[in-house]
Amino acid sequence: MALVTGSSRGIGRAVALKLAERGAAVVVNGRSDTATVESAVAEILDKGGQACGIVADIGQSQGCSQLVQSAISQFGRLDILVNNAGIVRDQLLLRMSDEDWDQVINTNLRGAFLCTRAALRPMLKQRWGRVINIASISGLIGNPGQANYAAAKAGLVAFTKSVAREVASRGITANAIAPGFIQTDMTQRLNASAQEEIVKHIPLGYIGDPQDVAEVAAFLASEKARYITGQVLVVDGGLTMV
Ligand code: NAP
Repeated sequence: MALVTGSSRGIGRAVALKLAERGAAVVVNGRSDTATVESAVAEILDKGGQACGIVADIGQSQGCSQLVQSAISQFGRLDILVNNAGIVRDQLLLRMSDEDWDQVINTNLRGAFLCTRAALRPMLKQRWGRVINIASISGLIGNPGQANYAAAKAGLVAFTKSVAREVASRGITANAIAPGFIQTDMTQRLNASAQEEIVKHIPLGYIGDPQDVAEVAAFLASEKARYITGQVLVVDGGLTMV
């Protein structure tokens, strides 16, 4: 069974659909919008997959533990956790409020910690598990206006490596994916000229699709990736290559 946080829309939804297509029963999650959670579940069921939806705020300790416990009780086990839910509150540092900082760290970093801690127990028992954290190239190279987001994503990368080292002997891998610019609601808010400017710097010449990330997540979740742990796979059209 796979639990994908923030999978009602965007990258998470594509990951949930891909894992379902590859045979996993999937728990779809969103923070607040029941209708989008239900539509993602319906899309999986229509395609012959197994899924259920749980609305829960992973920014809250209780939300995380309830999400993981309900997911386990729905399907009786937990094999794959994809920590995907994330938000942005972009602002230049001098104008960044305490709240902008706290909300982003809380959802993007603390949420992943809480969900992973809750999910590891069944994985340790079954001596098999996959933890996949959706980081960002902002966490690798930084980005003006995203000090909060970049710090959370860099933290998520270090978190991934620590988890990978802690649980490697128990058949559990932990890896991160660092997407570049991917077409979702999160990047939709950039105006057309900002998007054109970004595309100029992408060697492959276009903004990525959620499918590009979903394929990598499905690979990392599979047995084929059994010898890969503690890594960050960059999916950015070549934007950050050195
Ligand atoms: P998105 O389109 O804005 O979708 C975000 C999803 O996360 C929604 O399903 C949302 O549910 C859920 N979510 C947000 N806060 C949550 C919370 N506290 N509890 C539970 N669910 C929550 O975002 P996206 O572009 O697909 O991004 C997905 C992940 O990829 C994020 O971690 C993001 O940082 C990362 N990423 C994205 C890009 C990109 O270019 N798009 C690049 C690099 C990294 P609701 O609708 O209920 O709020």
